[in-house]
Amino acid sequence: MSAGPEEIARAVARLRAGGLVAFPTETVYGLGADALNAEAVGRVFAVKGRPGRNPLIVHVSGPAMARRVVGTWPEEAEAMARAFWPGPVTLVLPKGTGLPGAVTAGGATVGVRCPRHHVTLALLEAFGGPLVGPSANRSGGVSPTTAAHVREAFSEAEVEVLDGGPCEVGIESTVVSLAGGEVEVLRPGVVGAEEIGRVVGRPVRVRACGEDESGRVLESPGMLGSHYAPRTRAEMVSREGIAGRVARELGRVVVLTHTGVEVGPGHVRVEMPVEAVGYASRLYSSLREADNAGAGLIVVERPEGVGALWDAIRDRLVRATAARG
Ligand code: AMP
Ligand code: MG
Repeated sequence: MSAGPEEIARAVARLRAGGLVAFPTETVYGLGADALNAEAVGRVFAVKGRPGRNPLIVHVSGPAMARRVVGTWPEEAEAMARAFWPGPVTLVLPKGTGLPGAVTAGGATVGVRCPRHHVTLALLEAFGGPLVGPSANRSGGVSPTTAAHVREAFSEAEVEVLDGGPCEVGIESTVVSLAGGEVEVLRPGVVGAEEIGRVVGRPVRVRACGEDESGRVLESPGMLGSHYAPRTRAEMVSREGIAGRVARELGRVVVLTHTGVEVGPGHVRVEMPVEAVGYASRLYSSLREADNAGAGLIVVERPEGVGALWDAIRDRLVRATAARG
């Protein structure tokens, strides 16, 4: 059951006191705190075990609230907000002076978005101010797409959870920078560069997975930094390579397959939807299921699908299967 007015009122009280409230969004569950309270923001980093150099996204009820945390709100931001909000697009803009530096990891820019979920829109309205909201998981782990996932990671004392049902999209928002000279996708999501380009009326650059801020390609996959990762060792393998990879492994293997690959006796198969929307919405819960199957290795069949959402899915899979740094 979705959280109602009573739970929302309790959550607001907790946020006002500098506490943490996990909230549902259409992408993944967010770990909420008062974005204008430096101490509360510090608590988010501490509870997640998040490195201080990784900035938090600020959640707002709309453009008016966004203007309170950004330094500039250009025409392109207004056009993007009109086209995509509430929705899974985070805009990176110059930071406003009132926002604690901890939110942006000391950086000069801030990421803001308006989530498309009635519970969290009601929470933002009732609280009346911006909330930081990184994914509500321990740093580096698999993002939560249900209230139960959040409860597995944090105690009641640490985090109050507003239940809003399973997340519809299932992977994190597209992060788009409007802070530099070009419009640049920093993290792929459901909304792709082409769609964004049509709204801003100019070409959009996509920073490749494994590229640093200056556009240099990182040399080794280990430098990608593992993220969205299960505890079990995980590899992404082409459909043709799966049988051989499973045969080479001494222990039990869990295979995530969206094309019905057979895995043989003693191993486990997790069936994934064959189309992108279903695949994305199931991705993180399936990785958790695979992680809990008691296997020594997770093999993910490499999706070959074309389009923005498949690109975003592959981005998460590359990071979930990257060597731990
Ligand atoms: P998460 O904490 O899992 O919701 O992910 C938030 C991600 O948003 C960060 O890891 C960054 O990739 C991105 N992000 C947030 N704020 C900024 C910013 N100011 N500049 C660039 N990327 C940002
Ligand atoms: Mg995260």
